[in-house]
Amino acid sequence: MGSVTETANTAAARKVTVIFVLGGPGSGKGTQCTNIVQNFGYTHLSAGDLLRAEIKSGSENGTMIQNMIKEGKIVPAEVTIKLLQKAIQGSDNVKFLIDGFPRNEENRAAFESITGILPEIVLFFDCSEEEMEKRLLGRNQGREDDNIETIRKRFNVYMESSLPVIQYYDNLGKVRKIDAAKPIDAVFEDVKTIFEKVNTE
Ligand code: UDP
Ligand code: MG
Repeated sequence: MGSVTETANTAAARKVTVIFVLGGPGSGKGTQCTNIVQNFGYTHLSAGDLLRAEIKSGSENGTMIQNMIKEGKIVPAEVTIKLLQKAIQGSDNVKFLIDGFPRNEENRAAFESITGILPEIVLFFDCSEEEMEKRLLGRNQGREDDNIETIRKRFNVYMESSLPVIQYYDNLGKVRKIDAAKPIDAVFEDVKTIFEKVNTE
């Protein structure tokens, strides 16, 4: 039986605002989310970071998640959604940036039906594959998937499975597209213009 406090803390009862931050691997989602947090008071939830933390925690799903990430594949929606829900419910904030999710139609539909949350807007970092590849190979974060073989797989998954999700939200008028090939500061100027107009009522 759910207690009153539990009910009051569900996403629906708290009326949270969610913004999806999407774009290819290396398009700058994480970097810009850090800037948005500092300037607009959102809580940043990186789906990839939550999955990597789940591997480290030694959970029973850890090995499966690790293998999927190494192959650039998309982890089953229920797994990622459970982590996102836990993070949302465990936070006092009501404004969230969800970075790197939803990555395919299954992710999108399951998140919507399980949480009942629709994104206020979808921030789309648009960047050429050439530039993204350069950034991924140039950064050194010790990630097992930042090697050329896995990067190519991630690009394919992005083109085949993630772009259609962005297209879906574009058809709903929710996408705010940003030229992510520019330098970090210039990109953030464009991001700011968009966030100044977001309705968080
Ligand atoms: N991933 C996933 N579901 C998600 C987010 C990430 O399965 O909702 C996995 C997927 O294998 C992806 C990897 O985690 O390639 C790294 O994702 P992240 O968003 O950290 O990095 P990006 O590819 O955007 O640079
Ligand atoms: Mg990231």
